[in-house]
Amino acid sequence: MPYKPLPRHSLGFFPTPLVPLPRLTERLGGPALFMKRDDLTGLGLGGNKTRKLEFLVGEALAQGCDTLVTGGAAQSNHCRQTAAAAAACGLACHLVLGGAAPAVPEGNLLLDQLFGAVIHWTGEFRKGEKIPEIAESLRSAGRKPYVVPYGGSNTTGAVGFVEAVRELTAQLTQVGEAITHIVFASSSGGTHAGLMVGRRLFGLESELVGIGIDKGASGDVPFAEHIVQLANATAERLGVRDRFSAAELILHEEYLGDGYGVVGELERRAIGLVARTEGILLDPVYTGRAMGGLIDLIERGELTRGHAVLFWHTGGTPALFPYARDLISS
Ligand SMILES: *Cc1c(COP(=O)(O)O)cnc(C)c1O
Repeated sequence: MPYKPLPRHSLGFFPTPLVPLPRLTERLGGPALFMKRDDLTGLGLGGNKTRKLEFLVGEALAQGCDTLVTGGAAQSNHCRQTAAAAAACGLACHLVLGGAAPAVPEGNLLLDQLFGAVIHWTGEFRKGEKIPEIAESLRSAGRKPYVVPYGGSNTTGAVGFVEAVRELTAQLTQVGEAITHIVFASSSGGTHAGLMVGRRLFGLESELVGIGIDKGASGDVPFAEHIVQLANATAERLGVRDRFSAAELILHEEYLGDGYGVVGELERRAIGLVARTEGILLDPVYTGRAMGGLIDLIERGELTRGHAVLFWHTGGTPALFPYARDLISS
């Protein structure tokens, strides 16, 4: 179905590969497993935010902005990809990060600095709470900031994942696979909401199975409700009629462990298993937890040999290095 086109600025390499995971499939003895490699989007070591940023940066450039402002945790993949996008487009970048400056920057933070981003440390605020303040001070200094919301998750960013479904459906026809479930890490909601809208628009039949990785990621509204609201707003923005309800949303929130970014046995095992069976790296915060959830769903018999599951690898691998101590089991 056609929908209103939005400005888009090319930042990544698409389509990302869709690959089978034969050795992991055999090891787990459940459904046939496939992976969509959005860790290979190509922008500053890749990840799912590249898809959102193509539309967010498209809008920023259309509005004549000269600076991108966003925020997140110190090891934010979203902030790192935003910093890379800004550099690639000749824009300035200001990042509002939770925590305090470490003695030596590692992982994503090192990359933020290599991409030339200006970093503002905000202590306990790790969800971009201080973005408006920084944007205001940039405006008073005569800059034209474009605010990229936390996780890139507004209707503009979500369109990146509507388009991702167009990309996937074309690949699935070529491969001739009937995927019954798509499993992915869900945190600020843009990925999930965009996939929901795209699924309807492009007639994808696979169930979308979000694995929550952060508690109360959206503040006051329950996370599932936040995703549905964003999906509806995105559909409206695109001028399509479809609307969604919480009843059709699948979101597992039982894999939060000891909280955001805390690596436990679930993540350690999933990361080790995928690395050793397939030679593919997951990340400690998002995809490690989501894959741990998928493995649990298989081991509990909820996903079986009769199913075919696509795991959407959303990136995050630069965060492996600062997590070295937590990843090597003693
Ligand atoms: C941001 C991120 C997610 C979650 O995507 P949302 O659209 O914020 O829900 C998943 N995995 C990785 C690696 C991410 O950086």
